[in-house]
Amino acid sequence: MLDIRWKAGLFVCALIVISLFLWLISGATAALLVFSTGLLLYLSSHIFWLHQLRIWFKAPDLKVIPEGFGLWEDIFTMLLKYERNNKLIQTKLNSSLELFNLATSAMPDGLVILSAGNAIEWCTPNAEKQLGLNLTTDKNLPIVNLIRDSHFIAYLYNGEYDLPFKLQSWRNPELILELQLVPFANQQKLLISRDMTQLEKVDIMRRDFIANVSHELRTPLTVVGGFLETLSDMDGAVPASLKHYFALMEEQTIRMRRIIEDLLTLSTIESNTGNPDDSEIDIAQLLEAVQNDAIGLSQGLKKTKHKIHLDVDATLNLSGAIDELRSAFSNLVSNAIRYTPENKTKGHGEIFISWGLRDGEAVFSVRDTGIGIELQHIERLTERFYRVDRSRSRETGGTGLGLSIVKHILIRHQAKLEISSRLGLGSTFSAVFPKSRIVHVALATTT
Ligand code: ADP
Repeated sequence: MLDIRWKAGLFVCALIVISLFLWLISGATAALLVFSTGLLLYLSSHIFWLHQLRIWFKAPDLKVIPEGFGLWEDIFTMLLKYERNNKLIQTKLNSSLELFNLATSAMPDGLVILSAGNAIEWCTPNAEKQLGLNLTTDKNLPIVNLIRDSHFIAYLYNGEYDLPFKLQSWRNPELILELQLVPFANQQKLLISRDMTQLEKVDIMRRDFIANVSHELRTPLTVVGGFLETLSDMDGAVPASLKHYFALMEEQTIRMRRIIEDLLTLSTIESNTGNPDDSEIDIAQLLEAVQNDAIGLSQGLKKTKHKIHLDVDATLNLSGAIDELRSAFSNLVSNAIRYTPENKTKGHGEIFISWGLRDGEAVFSVRDTGIGIELQHIERLTERFYRVDRSRSRETGGTGLGLSIVKHILIRHQAKLEISSRLGLGSTFSAVFPKSRIVHVALATTT
C-alpha cells in the first residue's frame, strides 16, 4: 500500500504532467483550466472528507466510521486501528480496576485515601462500614469532620505514624478499631482501619483472668504468711531444727505476695484504657523522693553500697499521673541498684539519675555502672517474666514484671523506653516523653 505522502504527491504530479501535455497540444489556457479544475476537485474532495470526519467525531462509533477514498481511505483505516487499540486498552484497564475493586472489597480491613489536605479521596466499602463514611456524599470532605475523636485528630496532625492508634467507635461503643496512617505518593495518606473487637475481647478475658486469679490467691497467701510469722515469733512453737525451713517458707510467701501485687498492678494499668489522670508533676520533688527511696533500698542490701547522683532540670515539669510515673521511675532506679554490684576500685557502684531536655523531648534517665545486658536480651526485657539471670533477679527480690509495668505506664503517657547497655560496664534506661507533656516552669529569681 502506498504511503499517504506518495499518494498526494502522485496525484499532483499526474495533474502537472497532464496540464503540461495539454499546454503543448492545446495551449496555455486549456492547460490552466484543466490544472485549476483538477486542483479544485482535489480540494473539494478533502473538504468533503474533512466534513465526514467532523460528523463522525461528534458520535465516534467504530461500526459507522466512513470508508474514505484515496488518501482518506488510509486516514480512516488508521483511525479505526487507533480507536480499536484504545478500546482494547480501556477494556483491560476496566477489568484491572474491577479486579482491584473486588480485591479491596474482599479485604477485611478498611482503606481510605486521604489527600494532602486530609480530605477523603476514595474508600472501600469496609471503611464505609467501620468508620461510618459514605463515599458518595463524603468525598472531598475533611476526614476530621467525620471522625471527630480528639485523639485521632491529634494522631493525624502529629505526623508520627509508626504505631497504630486504637479507637472506640463513637457510633457503636462495642466496636474497637485500630487505625494506622501510612504516608504515600504525593503527600497523600492511606488510612487503614481494622476491626479489633474480637481480639480486644480475648485480651480483656485474659486480663480479667489474671486479675481474678491474683485476687483469689492474695487472701489465702496473706493467711499462710500471717500464720508463719506468728509461729516464728512464738517462743518454742517452732523447734530449732525446723526454724530454717520456716524462714525459707516466709521468704517464699513474701516473694509470691510481691508477684501477685505486681500482677494486679499490671492488670490495673493494662485494663485502664482511658487517659491517665493528668496533673502537673513537680519532677524535681518527685525525683528527690525517688532518690531517697533508692538510698534506703541500697542500704537494705547487705553486701553492696551505692552512690546515687541526681541531676535535674528544675525548669521542666511533666503533665501526667503522678502515682504511675513515680512507680515507673522507682522501678528503673531500683533495677539499677539491684543490678549494680560493688565496684572493685571505688568500693561502691554508681547510679546517675537525670531529668532534662533532649531534642525538644523530656528525658528521664537512669545510668548504672552495673552488670550490663547482652544485646540479644534487650528487645525482650519488657516481656512479662523475662529475666536475663533468674537467680540474680530472685536473690534481689525481683518479680520479672517491673519493666512490663514501666512499659505500660510509659505507653499510657505516649512516652517510649530506650535501653542501651554494655555487658560488664552498665546500662542506661531512658523514658522519653513527647513535647506535648512538657510543662515549662519559670523559676523565681532572687534579687
Ligand atoms: P526483675 O524483677 O527480674 O528485675 P524486671 O522486669 O524489672 O524484672 O527486669 C527484667 C530483667 O531485665 C531483669 O531480670 C534483668 O535481667 C534485666 N535488667 C533490668 N534492669 C537492669 C539493669 N539496670 N541492669 C542489668 N539488667 C537489668
